Amino acid sequence: MDRRTGRQVDRRADRIDLHLHTTYSDGSLPPAEVLALAKKAGVSALAVTDHDIVDGIPESIEAGARLGIEVIPGVEISSRYGESELHILGYFLDWQDPVLSTRLAWLRASRHTRNPRIIAKLNELGLAITYEEVKALAGTESVGRPHIARVLMEKGYVQSAKEAFDRYLAQDKPGYVPRELPEPAEAIAWIRAAHGIPVLAHPVWVKLNEAGLLKLCEKLKAEGLMGVEVHYSTHKPQQTREYLNIARRLDLLVTGGSDFHGVTKPDIEVGVGRGGLKVPEMLLEPLKKAAAVR
Ligand code: AMP
Ligand code: ZN
Ligand code: FE
Ligand code: FE
Repeated sequence: MDRRTGRQVDRRADRIDLHLHTTYSDGSLPPAEVLALAKKAGVSALAVTDHDIVDGIPESIEAGARLGIEVIPGVEISSRYGESELHILGYFLDWQDPVLSTRLAWLRASRHTRNPRIIAKLNELGLAITYEEVKALAGTESVGRPHIARVLMEKGYVQSAKEAFDRYLAQDKPGYVPRELPEPAEAIAWIRAAHGIPVLAHPVWVKLNEAGLLKLCEKLKAEGLMGVEVHYSTHKPQQTREYLNIARRLDLLVTGGSDFHGVTKPDIEVGVGRGGLKVPEMLLEPLKKAAAVR
């Protein structure tokens, strides 16, 4: 905000954001609006990484061309990690690849198998909600728990998405139902098969100490992993350093992004996360180089 005129001013475009969600998955804003926020935040290049879907990429590229922002095609795939999940980001993939398209369709189908079971559990808990309502709000094939959270918000059952997850939707909560997921090695292989660069998303979610995470990354690298999301909205400085160390030791690419979702993560903004995120532009060149020689 310009203090004198009270008008929003664009920042100097000197940062990137390689982790963003739109209405094509569980983000609350369409690509053009996400790109407009990126412009305001001073983002020079970004990746749209919707869950299990690449359909938002053409619209994003178009908006990027209008605003002078480079758009990298991306995706985020959830994989099984014991009782929990490990997310793999894919960059610079051939997003029109028909085999990739079949695999992503399978992942979206596994959402449609799980979601009505979540709804049934919520109904048993006395919450009046239907899957039709959730699908209508989502308006996309990639329907996720954040969409369910938003319907619960609209109906006044919860005040925030966080409350919906904390009370019902998170793992070990009464509305939780796991879904069929690929192994990390499969998610990685699917991205590689589409000539993409697979990157471990938000390592903080894995909840391992530095030695444990190093070991995991070593294994994932042997399975084809090429990078680690070192910079992330909720990483503390000490964690960022730790993940950077791991990436350097294993010669993995370093990436970063906000994981912007809009209303379901209201504290996270495009390009700046919770305010302290700055993904350096210089990380893009090595990523592009790796993409050029696949
Ligand atoms: P799903 O992919 O349908 O299993 O939903 C998982 C998604 O929900 C994650 O990728 C996050 O984007 C989002 N999520 C997980 N925990 C929370 C939370 N506490 N508050 C808001 N969104 C969350
Ligand atoms: Zn999400
Ligand atoms: Fe994720
Ligand atoms: Fe994400």
